[in-house]
Parts: sequence; structure tokens; C-alpha cells
Amino acid sequence: MAIFKGTIQEFHHFIGPRIRNAINNLTRKYRQNLKGICEGCGQKKELHSAHIHGRERRTIIEAILKSYTNSEIIHCNIEEAENKILNAHLPIGSCFKFLCHTCHVTYDSNVIITKHIKESTVLPNGQNKESEEIKKVRRKIPRWIKNPHQINSRILVAFLKLKNNNIHVTPTVLREHCSEINDFEGNYNQMKNFGEKNNAKVFEEINNTIELWKPVESFIIESFEIHKNA
Ligand SMILES: [Zn+2]
Repeated sequence: MAIFKGTIQEFHHFIGPRIRNAINNLTRKYRQNLKGICEGCGQKKELHSAHIHGRERRTIIEAILKSYTNSEIIHCNIEEAENKILNAHLPIGSCFKFLCHTCHVTYDSNVIITKHIKESTVLPNGQNKESEEIKKVRRKIPRWIKNPHQINSRILVAFLKLKNNNIHVTPTVLREHCSEINDFEGNYNQMKNFGEKNNAKVFEEINNTIELWKPVESFIIESFEIHKNA
């Protein structure tokens, strides 16, 4: 009976990869059964996995682990927690949709971000600042993944690599790892601020520490992981 005791970040770091592999096996089988038929338009095309909002892997893991958490520390039987997490992903169609490129873009732009609309700031003109920003991130991330030489893409990948190695990322650390990027400062600022003209808010800087912006954290991490495993 193996026991895990630690923070949620440690759980994602040490146990997360095992769960990710198990889920990848499930999605691979599911996708193969579709034989290239898009779940949106029914045509035979190259299929992308689209996240169903609120059903991202990390969201599910964190929901299951709540019952094992006391004062921010998780204490659980690993096998039991893993089984619960995997079961919570079933049926796999409740977490992913397999769509062609066109249907994927349409799906993401139609996503209703109810959860975050409640928590977010409403602008005087009635526009919802946060949900607009989330939509923008969901539009841009697939493009950044396709263009790894694009500056925003390089900054984000540099950040994800540091986090993967459990490194505490400050603006100084990130700048050092992006030394070959000319306008690091300008681009980085646009990636942490809200705004019509920004690139897309993916970062949050708190007390000199950079983290992914919470409402899009799972989306970003899983988009890059799916890309890596494709
Ligand atoms: Zn389609």
C-alpha cells in the first residue's frame, strides 16, 4: 500500500506523469475507434483532441484529491486515488472531443466559460474582460504550438521547461533563459497583462514569481502535452 503525502504541486510532479500516460492510452484507443471520422462534421479528416471545458485532467485530479486534503497537504493511498481519478475520466468522450481542424476552431470559439464568468470582472461596457481573455488564449495557443519559432511560443516553452524541472521561475530566471530573444521585456509584459492589444494573457506574476494564469493553466499544460504525444 503505497502512500503519497505532499502538496498538490508535488502530486502533479511525481504522480501526474503516470496518470497522464494511463489517460493517453485511453484516448488513443478511443481515437482509433473513430477511424478518422470527425465528431463535429462527420467527415474523414485528421483529428485533433479538443478539451471539454472544466474536464481537463488537472481539474479532475484536483477535484478528486480534495477529499484527501487537509491544510493544503494531500495524504492518500496512491492506487486508490489513481483509480478514482481514472474512473472520473470515463467515458473518455466526457473529457475530449475528437475534431477536424475546422470543427476544433469553431468548438473553441463557442465554448461557454460559465465558471470563470461568475468570478470575473465585468467592464463598464458590459464586456466580460476575463472571459474575452480566456477565449483569446484558447485561440492563440494552438497557433503558438504550430509556430515554435514565434517569440511568444518560445517564451512560453522556456517557462514550461523550467517548471517541469521544478525550478522557481522569477522574471530574472525567465529572462536569462530567453537571452536570445530581442524584445523579451515587451513580449513578456503582453503575456501577463489583460488588454485588447496584448498577445494573450498566459502568465500571472505574484511576488516576483511567475505562474501560468489560473483560468487557462490546465488548458495550456494539456495542449502542449497532447502536442508532444501526438
Ligand atoms: Zn469536422
